[in-house]
Amino acid sequence: MAERRDVGIAGAGIAGLALATLLAHAGWRVTIHDKLDRPAPLGSGLIVQPVGMAVLAKLGVAGRVHELGARIDRLFGRVKPTDRVVLDVRYSALDSTSHGIGIHRGALFEILHDAAVKAGVTFETARDVRGVKDRRFLFANGAESAPFHLLIDALGVRSPLSPKAGRPLAYGALWASLDWPQGGGFDAHALEQRYVAARRMVGVLPIGCLHPDASAQAAFFWSLKGVDLGAWRANGIDSWKEEVRNVWPEVEPFLAQIAGPDDLVYATYAHRTLSHPVARGLVHVGDSFRCTSPQLGQGANMALLDAFALAHALSTARGVEDALDLYARMRLAHTRLYQAASWLFTPVYQSDSTILPWVRDWIAGPLSRIPPAPQILAALVAGAIGSPLKAIGADLMDARAASMLPSADVPS
Ligand SMILES: Cc1cc2nc3c(=O)[nH]c(=O)nc-3n(C[C@H](O)[C@H](O)[C@H](O)COP(=O)(O)OP(=O)(O)OC[C@H]3O[C@@H](n4cnc5c(N)ncnc54)[C@H](O)[C@@H]3O)c2cc1C
Repeated sequence: MAERRDVGIAGAGIAGLALATLLAHAGWRVTIHDKLDRPAPLGSGLIVQPVGMAVLAKLGVAGRVHELGARIDRLFGRVKPTDRVVLDVRYSALDSTSHGIGIHRGALFEILHDAAVKAGVTFETARDVRGVKDRRFLFANGAESAPFHLLIDALGVRSPLSPKAGRPLAYGALWASLDWPQGGGFDAHALEQRYVAARRMVGVLPIGCLHPDASAQAAFFWSLKGVDLGAWRANGIDSWKEEVRNVWPEVEPFLAQIAGPDDLVYATYAHRTLSHPVARGLVHVGDSFRCTSPQLGQGANMALLDAFALAHALSTARGVEDALDLYARMRLAHTRLYQAASWLFTPVYQSDSTILPWVRDWIAGPLSRIPPAPQILAALVAGAIGSPLKAIGADLMDARAASMLPSADVPS
């Protein structure tokens, strides 16, 4: 029999690790299951937005995130060949201390993993979760877990426990973590992108250091349709580098670090929202609840908000049933709002459309500089539209206090 305070989490990603730590702090006995032999992050880097930082502050890890990450003040993009500025969102439009943190996925993972270990979470590795039955996880090898009072699905975008498959988007991206160029030439505190209509996009995001002694890096990415991946490989790396140079010649120091196609990882994206995050005795958090393209940079933040909301609901509601109801109420409105925004914005930056990028370049871009548009866009990017922190009993002050901490600096 499961004890009343035994919780089983499937997935040691951002949502699973954050939730495990928060629940362990609140006195739950937490076991986390992952298919990897040693849990590890996939992918390059991401931006933790102010709302995500507020949750990391509650976890007690904001200092380490600031120490390893790079402060991001601005998201900036120009369209080629005109060089028109079509994206210029500054966090300072919100207030003077607001900013994002660009961070290596590996660094964020280590920080969250350490916090979970310190909190006393039990790790079950090499556990490929395929189903649930009688409050237990079922594994691919036919074995099953111990029984738990509460089962959590934090298996990410391709969760086999999620009742609805994600609809893959046509465009994904090639990603690499590369050394920050010594000679400068890039804004060390901005996500910078260059576009050709919405068909091509190259981007550079400062992501700080993997560990305190490592050198500073950037996440480098190139937008590519899934159906074109085979042709991209067949054409060879030199032909692709020439195409990238034609869009943004200054990225040469990054291209010089890429020897072949295996130095880049292709990431696909999907859009999916469950109508309710609690179903069939399972609670979904993070990408298993909803996933989007990374255009608005919100996936990790949503995962952190889910984790905090669920832990908060379990601590404050009278019983588990009430807590799960409360969790759903706290997260559904914000989730739907950002899913709609992501659905709206994604094809503006990644699609075959000619009309949408034209509207972006000649109408939306200029309008975005007229108040109150800069404030609204900054709030959207910060994850703050819909006041998600108020709903879960946290506060942007947590992120502001964390923002006073120093972050890793790279030569500009
Ligand atoms: C290229 C790219 C760029 C992104 N940029 C940003 C950004 O700038 N800002 C942002 O906020 N978000 C960004 N995101 C989104 C963000 O990475 C995700 O939303 C976030 O990682 C979701 O966290 P999660 O815990 O739900 O899932 P994940 O972090 O994917 O974790 C899932 C875990 O489950 C494990 N697992 C999976 N299947 C099984 C199984 N069957 N059995 C056992 N274990 C399993 C995996 O090993 C993993 O540890 C980006 C995503 C991509 C792909």
